[in-house]
Amino acid sequence: MNVEDAVFNDLFLYDSPQKKQAQIAKDHNVTEDDVRSIREKYHLTEAVKEIKRIRALWSNKKDFGLFTKFYKWYSRGICDYCGISQDVVKKIVESGKLTSKRFPAVDKKCQRGRSRGISLEVDKRKPGEGYLQKNCALVCYFCNNDKSDVFNDEQYMLFLVNRRKFLENL
Ligand SMILES: [Zn+2]
Repeated sequence: MNVEDAVFNDLFLYDSPQKKQAQIAKDHNVTEDDVRSIREKYHLTEAVKEIKRIRALWSNKKDFGLFTKFYKWYSRGICDYCGISQDVVKKIVESGKLTSKRFPAVDKKCQRGRSRGISLEVDKRKPGEGYLQKNCALVCYFCNNDKSDVFNDEQYMLFLVNRRKFLENL
């Protein structure tokens, strides 16, 4: 890893929000001005916004431990239920091939309350239980919305295979 990446990780990714600029500079053998310029260069980028978004998701899931552990778990980028990748879902929503009032508008106007769809979400496998790591699934909007608080994860996997058969056999 090059120095810029290492400083980036200390500034934005690792669990070191209280780590002082001076300490980061010392740890990576660069000047404080270097650290400052790396912060300036990246702090408004999409990559950092994405890290902040994932950190906000982690804020009520501290059972995962350190943020970096949650980040790694989240960054698999595959829906645990249907197997679709985050990249494909993002392209579908951004292209407007499927639309919803909950999705960000394609024309980017009026985004209030419209943040669903584009990113993978964290679902509680057993709806009545909390966000403990063992109860968390990484899921696409389509599965999360469909599963709702009706099914647990095992029921939902059967429902996905054959909806009618699953319902008739209840
Ligand atoms: Zn899915």
